[in-house]
Amino acid sequence: MNVGENFIAMSYATDFGTLFFPRYCSSCNRNLMHYEKAVCMHCLSDLPRLRMHDECNNAVEKLFWGRVDLHAATAYLSMPRNGISHRLIHRLKYHGDQEVGERLGALFAHELLDSDRMSKIDVIVPVPLHPKKLHVRGYNQCDCIARGMAEILGAEVSLNNLTRTHFNASQTRRGRISRWSNVKDIFWVREPEKLEGKRILLVDDVITTGATIEACAVALRKIKDVQLSVAALAVPA
Ligand SMILES: [Zn+2]
Repeated sequence: MNVGENFIAMSYATDFGTLFFPRYCSSCNRNLMHYEKAVCMHCLSDLPRLRMHDECNNAVEKLFWGRVDLHAATAYLSMPRNGISHRLIHRLKYHGDQEVGERLGALFAHELLDSDRMSKIDVIVPVPLHPKKLHVRGYNQCDCIARGMAEILGAEVSLNNLTRTHFNASQTRRGRISRWSNVKDIFWVREPEKLEGKRILLVDDVITTGATIEACAVALRKIKDVQLSVAALAVPA
């Protein structure tokens, strides 16, 4: 059997396998082809990409003006309610669909590779989930995104070094100032020497007020000679 025949045989075998072990798109539930991962091609082409990575003073960076000094900041997707990105992130956070987090992280990272400002990263630091939430959910959704990004960017993922100290109550109905006072002291770095001199990418799932990211960034900026950038998977539309 030559190489071409081998490839065709493998394709049939993989498609045959999907008959017995079907996989579904995390957004539209359509059957995935063997070459599709977590999200079908139709939904991928409709993802509301923001394409702001190389834009200095973009909307995400403006959010942190006067709050913390960042090398660059960006977000991958707009997240209109009940749109594709909203469904995918809901699956990631509330339905145990870690694969979709890794897939979106990888897609995001492919775009960052083309960015002069954000392609060179040494360490990816996911925003830590509070231990109580981690216990309930079983995983940190930001770790999934970070894993997908790390492989493409050739960076390592730093888990458990940036640490969250205590539970802060639900922040959803609070203003920015009270949120900030609620989160500013809850992050600290266990072993700062491991991150000294590194180009760090802090990764979160969704940016709203930016208070949590700001608090993480303030803790990371205390480390010697770091270059700190921020990447969020989505911003609410
Ligand atoms: Zn789909």
